Amino acid sequence: MCTHDILLGEDGLSKLGLGLSEFVDGLPGGFFVYEAYGEERILFANKQMAHIFGCSSVEDFLDLVGGSFMGVVYHEDRLRVEDSIWSQINAREHDTITHRDHVTYRIQAKDGSLRFMDEYGRLVRNTACGDLFFVFVADVSNMTGLVPKEQIKAARGQTSAYTDELTLLPSMKFYHLHAAEFLARAAASGTRMADVYFDLDHFKAINYRLGYEAGDAVLRHVARILQESFPKGLLARFSDDHFVLITERDGLEERLGVVHERASKVMSSIPIELKAGIYELAPNDTSLAFAHDRAKVACASIKGRYDQHYRFYDESLFVDETMRDYVLGHIEEAASKGWLKNYYQPVMRVATGLTCGMEALSRWDDPDRGLLLPYQYVPFLEEARLIHLLDCCVVERACADVKRAKQEAGVAVPVSLNFSPSGLALLDVPNLIEDAVNRHNVPRDLIHIEITESSLTEDPELLRSVIGRFHKRGFSVWMDDFGSGYSSLNLLKDYDFDVLKIDMEFLRGMEGNEKSRTIVGSIIQLSQSLGMQTLVEGVETESQFEFLRTVGTDKAQGYLFSQPIPYEDVMSDFFRRYPPEAHDAPTAGTPSLRSR
Ligand code: C2E
Ligand code: MG
Ligand code: MG
Repeated sequence: MCTHDILLGEDGLSKLGLGLSEFVDGLPGGFFVYEAYGEERILFANKQMAHIFGCSSVEDFLDLVGGSFMGVVYHEDRLRVEDSIWSQINAREHDTITHRDHVTYRIQAKDGSLRFMDEYGRLVRNTACGDLFFVFVADVSNMTGLVPKEQIKAARGQTSAYTDELTLLPSMKFYHLHAAEFLARAAASGTRMADVYFDLDHFKAINYRLGYEAGDAVLRHVARILQESFPKGLLARFSDDHFVLITERDGLEERLGVVHERASKVMSSIPIELKAGIYELAPNDTSLAFAHDRAKVACASIKGRYDQHYRFYDESLFVDETMRDYVLGHIEEAASKGWLKNYYQPVMRVATGLTCGMEALSRWDDPDRGLLLPYQYVPFLEEARLIHLLDCCVVERACADVKRAKQEAGVAVPVSLNFSPSGLALLDVPNLIEDAVNRHNVPRDLIHIEITESSLTEDPELLRSVIGRFHKRGFSVWMDDFGSGYSSLNLLKDYDFDVLKIDMEFLRGMEGNEKSRTIVGSIIQLSQSLGMQTLVEGVETESQFEFLRTVGTDKAQGYLFSQPIPYEDVMSDFFRRYPPEAHDAPTAGTPSLRSR
């Protein structure tokens, strides 16, 4: 072969003993081809591309970048790069040969490090499968003379205010800076968009059970899954376990399905439940704050549910919001004007049929809206961190009623009080109750504390310390709604409860279901052998009550005996039908009788 012979085309390569793939993989830089429009899907990448990203194979590289060109470019540089490419190409619109561009940007390698790329791209018009970009990139990280100064500065610090340090996703600041522009582009191309708010259920439980490092690893993993699933979206971590995303509306449900499935497998010991709230943006929606709030409301509405991992915002949630505004706007007035009342639902001793206690259940007796039930205001107060206003009223009222019952009717019936996790976090509830019982001169064994099972997965660390402090002061602590959530029997060994209140769901359909009966019977045996009394709530029929008697349940509560009713009705009518048991000595189940 003479030195001046030029070997043309594929034929030439084969004469050199090379195939096309050897040629492409042998290039001194990365080479890839992607679709010029839509998803910007990468259709081909050479091995050098994988190498630049620190990936073990081209497949590994495609996974890392979510298979799209926009996943190749580091998020802080994306909009600039996209703009630059198209403005260069448009400027040469009439020059049909040189549809090309030259840009510099950062990429984030698999190990998290940032590297600088010098890219030469060429738009190739293609009628067969749509226009394509052919791209050649060189890693110029060690040749910083080629790289704009501000990029070097940002990369040296690895992360800037525009990047979330933990997950390396865009930060909230980055999101706010670019969201409007991002939406404007979508509007210009007629793409329907949606605002998505993500929240991890029970994230605090992961931190608590497995440590903060494991919690951080989960967040990083979830961030990566989101990034891979929405490479073209504007994704950011806002705080803790909350992520936000603006993305194309089309195909969203399928993508969320994949994300949910992948997230659930991040840990083998604890199922990770990633919830998504969605607000569909109208073509000219510009108020992102409005969209974001609604996506968040939709997400909150499915928190703790096992059967739904995403929800679109709809009008029914809007009704909730009107109610929320009302509740938050009037809570102080309700507290000061006595609209917040305690109703009481009696608790029966199964063996004797006598009344052995009452549960205080809050009611908002509104002058305009009538009697409101807890589900209509408790969640809003919790969310707005105002639940302590209700807690103070309930405690005060309960102590006053217990005292009145002793003085006026000569009966001492213990009252149990409900506290939400956020209430326990906001207020020193053990002190609040201690202060109230002292002022009203109420014996401590007449006030019990109910803590709902779901709060154990909200903030286990806090819960354990609060339970300890209640016990120290001599109050009995009950686990409410046992069996209603994700928690397992395992939880019983981690916490020190005096009474296990078994959720009413266990009784539903029990009549025809032998398995249900076996489960309830076994739970009752198990809790008694752990030194806990048992209370089954939601008893509605004689046959349910009869069954509870046969399996040795200590206490029962439900509509079979009474709905929650005003204090006066308990004292008069109810006690006539079901007299209260004598209460001169502390009964079993109060802390003084249990060894801890
Ligand atoms: P919970 O503590 O599990 O209370 C039991 C709920 O079940 C009550 O609803 C009660 O009316 C209802 N219930 C009782 N027996 C039966 C029955 O046989 N069948 C049926 N279908 N339902 C029955 P309510 O009063 O609407 O309270 C709902 C939840 O609101 C309570 O659940 C509790 O978690 C919360 N709550 C109530 N009062 C307060 C409060 O003062 N503070 C806080 N933080 N939460 C409260
Ligand atoms: Mg309760
Ligand atoms: Mg309950």
